[in-house]
Amino acid sequence: MKFITIDKKDWTKGIDKSRKTYQLFGPVKDENGCKIKELDKDLAPEMDYHESVMSAKSVLFPQTETLLTANLDESVEDHHIMKRAKNEYTPRAVLGIRPYDAKAILLVKLNFDTDEYRDPYWCDAYEATTLVGLGITHPGPFDFSTSVGSGPFGEEGLDILMADLDDHYLAKVLTPKGEAYAAACGFDAAADDKESQALFDILQLEAEKNITSRVETDKLKDKALLDLHEAPFWDDIAFACINCGTCTYVCPTCWCFDIQDETKQKQSSRFRNWDTCMSPLFTRHATGHNPRGAKVQRVRQRFMHKLKYFLDKYDQGIMCVGCGRCVKSCPVNIDIRQVAHTMNTFEKKD
Ligand code: SF4
Ligand code: SF4
Repeated sequence: MKFITIDKKDWTKGIDKSRKTYQLFGPVKDENGCKIKELDKDLAPEMDYHESVMSAKSVLFPQTETLLTANLDESVEDHHIMKRAKNEYTPRAVLGIRPYDAKAILLVKLNFDTDEYRDPYWCDAYEATTLVGLGITHPGPFDFSTSVGSGPFGEEGLDILMADLDDHYLAKVLTPKGEAYAAACGFDAAADDKESQALFDILQLEAEKNITSRVETDKLKDKALLDLHEAPFWDDIAFACINCGTCTYVCPTCWCFDIQDETKQKQSSRFRNWDTCMSPLFTRHATGHNPRGAKVQRVRQRFMHKLKYFLDKYDQGIMCVGCGRCVKSCPVNIDIRQVAHTMNTFEKKD
């Protein structure tokens, strides 16, 4: 770990230099807000943004991704044999990612990179990616990241953490990937480690003071799974939901997908698309049976997965980093903080 300073006058020149070896992603503003997108040549990241509507999850898990392809032309030797699609995993860097979104990637990794199963598409993209974070000096009103083990200057999952200090960035280089990226940019002006850490600590404390929103999770682990599953409050929670799926698409820790096959002339491909557990189609079987055919079952699934199943399975906290996107985006104001409170304080009546 070491600190470097980056004069803002050198920032764009440096990241442009890194384009020789890295594909760049970062915050881009449009009429619908800020999203983390690929930075085409000459497009610089908007580093002065507050919140992004969408997280960086699509860098590792694109909305549509081809998995396998097959040639259906019977005149070729290996026709009809499905082969892994030739996706590119060139080095890439995500600039200006928020610390809670980097932590979210680690939570998603628990699902895509296990001892029993490794999703090669997600894992290869992860290996190729360097995460350059930007601390949050002015947290928004929906941010409750400090109560779920992240925070405005959290380091988990990041390769570099930067603080915006008006005319320059102070950067804490956390991993060899971060070192390689700083070198590719030519950012090498060393800063005093002790003074820099003290400054980071102050910035973190100041930012954390502005986060007043919290989520209660301390009793969830001890609740019996079936008691929560059968609890009477789910109808009330689900009543207003319109199953639009927005909460899951904007969530950096949601990973549901659907797999489809498509054939065009002599080429067949199998691809996956983001999907949502809030949609009735997501669990409908080919027979027509649907184990989660009712809205209340789907709403319960979303919250039980995030706040109970994940917690019980991995013992690494809840499947939420407190970014607040789902709270802000839900058209009917369903709020995971209130649901967590209801679950956390629930006592089964005998
Ligand atoms: S955003 Fe709100 S209304 Fe839409 S699926 Fe999620 S909880 Fe339901
Ligand atoms: S559940 Fe909501 S607050 Fe938590 S990480 Fe997902 S979008 Fe953010």
